[in-house]
Amino acid sequence: MKLGYPRSFLSLLVIGFSIVAAPLLFALASNALAFGQLASLAEQAVHSAVKVTQASRSLLAEVTSLERSSRQYAVAGEATFLDAYRQHRVNFVELTRQLDAMALSEAQRQEVAAIERDESGVNDLINHMGPTPELSRRLPQEFAILAQRGQSLVRLGDQVIEAGIEQLQAQAVQARNSVFWLMIALVPTAIVLIASFTYLLSRPINQVSESIRSLGEGQFAKPIRVEGPGDMVRLGEQLDWLRERLVALEAQKTRFLQHMSHELKTPLTALREGSDLLSSGVVGNLNAEQREIARILQENSIELRKLIEGLLNYSAVHAQASYLDAKIVQLREVVRRVVNDRKLAIVAKGIRIELNCEHVTAYCDEEKIRVVLDNLLSNAIKYSPERALISFKLYKDQGDAVFEVLDEGPGIPPSEREKIFEAFYRGADAPIAAIKGSGLGLSIVKEYIQLHKGAIEVLDGPGAHFRIRFPRKKAEGEEAAA
Ligand code: ADP
Repeated sequence: MKLGYPRSFLSLLVIGFSIVAAPLLFALASNALAFGQLASLAEQAVHSAVKVTQASRSLLAEVTSLERSSRQYAVAGEATFLDAYRQHRVNFVELTRQLDAMALSEAQRQEVAAIERDESGVNDLINHMGPTPELSRRLPQEFAILAQRGQSLVRLGDQVIEAGIEQLQAQAVQARNSVFWLMIALVPTAIVLIASFTYLLSRPINQVSESIRSLGEGQFAKPIRVEGPGDMVRLGEQLDWLRERLVALEAQKTRFLQHMSHELKTPLTALREGSDLLSSGVVGNLNAEQREIARILQENSIELRKLIEGLLNYSAVHAQASYLDAKIVQLREVVRRVVNDRKLAIVAKGIRIELNCEHVTAYCDEEKIRVVLDNLLSNAIKYSPERALISFKLYKDQGDAVFEVLDEGPGIPPSEREKIFEAFYRGADAPIAAIKGSGLGLSIVKEYIQLHKGAIEVLDGPGAHFRIRFPRKKAEGEEAAA
């Protein structure tokens, strides 16, 4: 069964926290209950045991009083002593009655019954004999037995208290153990729950941030879908709407570029033909100044045509940049071909080329990689001083194919290292700006390398140092033959 996400991110958060907190709250509540029960049991046990012991001690004291008043009565025979004896007896009987009503152990109950029985015997003896020397002689003996019973009742009470304390200690240990095992079971459960909810909460956020990143990198092909609570799904739909808008804008831009380039070409051709006619002298001889103006016109119209062709080329490249015509390619051969194609320019500037290429194959679009290397090499030639050295490196690194191109030109200032990959961006340095170019070469390089799931970076160096890497494997995960 697949559980659905709730309608909002906040509900997911609240549900998550409640589910994670529930077992912990349960543990807290059951602990509180167990300890509460234990505390009230302890209170009850101690309270009743103490009451029994107190009553037993009072009973013992009453036995002493009974002995004293009965012996006085036996010796002196006065009615006041008999009254005192009877009063103490009332107290004694009341105490035994109270003890009977208390929660007693079996031994205590038997002891109370025995003391009642013995006392009643002594009472019968006193009533029967009256104040006689015989009674005086027998009373100490009888009361000694009663006192012994009273003391054993007190001792039994103490034993009950001790047993109660031991039982409480055992219960406390049991309660502590059950809390311990509850915690052992609950902590991993809480960790698993926290991990699951962290995943559920972070997944839609990661999907949104991943979608925004790919939009930022200009990857518009894949539709955006966010899985998660309702509000996050709607956010995903809005991002997809944005993607569609960007796709439409991109198409509009390309159409506009093609249209403009085409429209500019017609008047430009007329301009060029006019300047050609003027320079050739067909429409009449020109003086030196006029010839110079005609030459400037001719040169600039040629330059303008190159720019327009660049624009057209760029929009064509852009239109092509969405698919790869990939196969297994020997990259070293591509480097050789590119260098060979630029031989004229290289020789013209007296430039030395150093090739440091390993045997590397990759699953890639050969033509696009050729364009990438050609743009880098043509820039290196363009920006290098005469008789400088240009180095090419090619090697494998952790499943990637890596190219490096180094030259001895002015290099790229750190502040421009991001911007040079933007379309139509040209370096700000005056001498460099003087070198003609369209500012499109590196943006095409970046676009093609991203299409290969690779990256380009500019490294520090005395001159320019570019490094390109892209995976040698097919996207499905199969490595190209080495
Ligand atoms: P272009 O070379 O036509 O101006 P690019 O997109 O190829 O356009 O390059 C953009 C900018 O990057 C250039 O204007 C230049 O400032 C800088 N650049 C590129 N390659 C080099 C290099 N090898 N040495 C110095 N600067 C370079």
